[in-house]
Formats: sequence, C-alpha cells, structure tokens
Amino acid sequence: MASGRTHITGTLVLTPITAMATWQLADGNPVLTALSALGCLSGVLISPDLDMAGRTISESIVLRWNILLGRLWVLLWLPYALIHKHRGLSHVPIFGTMSRILYIALCYVGLHYFLQPYYPFDLLVWPQLYWLEILVFATGLAISDLGHWALDGCKLGF
Ligand SMILES: [Zn+2]
Repeated sequence: MASGRTHITGTLVLTPITAMATWQLADGNPVLTALSALGCLSGVLISPDLDMAGRTISESIVLRWNILLGRLWVLLWLPYALIHKHRGLSHVPIFGTMSRILYIALCYVGLHYFLQPYYPFDLLVWPQLYWLEILVFATGLAISDLGHWALDGCKLGF
C-alpha cells in the first residue's frame, strides 16, 4: 500500500493531465478545465483515506494551515471514518468518490437547515444551478481516486 505522501504525489501528477484532457473535451472551456483540475487536486484533502479514524495526512495538512479549521475538518470527517472500514467502499473507484460527495452533500443540506433561520439565501438553489460544474469537479476527484486506487494495487476491499 502506498503512503500518504505517494498518494499526494500521484494526485499532483494527475491534476495537469486531468486539466489537459478537460481542455480538449470541453473545447477549451477555462471554467470547466479549472474545476476538473481543482476536483482532482482536492483529492489531496478529500482523500479515500478519510475512512481512517486516526489522523490522516489530509487532516494533518489542514491542521497545519489553521488549527481551528483543522479541528473542524477532523470533526467533519469523523462520522465518515466511523461508518467506513479502511480501504473498504471508500477506496472503490466511483463508489468511494460518490460516498464522499454524498457525505459532503448531506453536511451541506444539514448546514442549510442549521443556517436557514439566520441566513437570507437558500443554499439548496446553488447545487441545482451549478450541477454541471459540480459534476465536473466530482469527475476530477474521481480521477484522483482512481490514481489512489492504482497506487494501492487496484484492490477492491469490500
Ligand atoms: Zn488509501
């Protein structure tokens, strides 16, 4: 199994390749190209290894950036780690990516209902307006996850 640093290097190698492929497929659309590259790069933080209850390298990175943000990041992903077996579904290509996107979506909906009485905007409108951009971002993340899976030896650990 590859180390956290190796997975980050893999993601950093895949990010420009993802951007170039999107540039070709999206007829040079700069927004979609940037979103796919950001989605792939986000694999450094939104890693399949968030299925570990112990400190992951992505959590360590966020903690180094900002201690408060880091603690929130660790707290945010703790339920995900507790419901997933390490190298289980979260490491299966496509399904693992979808599980983290769905988890983020559930947190987003929860945030919406928590903020609704205090916030004048409807947060649930944005995903409906920007579904294509979200899909392109998620595809970039899925490419990063494919690299993670390949570096771990292409094992399906159900
Ligand atoms: Zn892993």
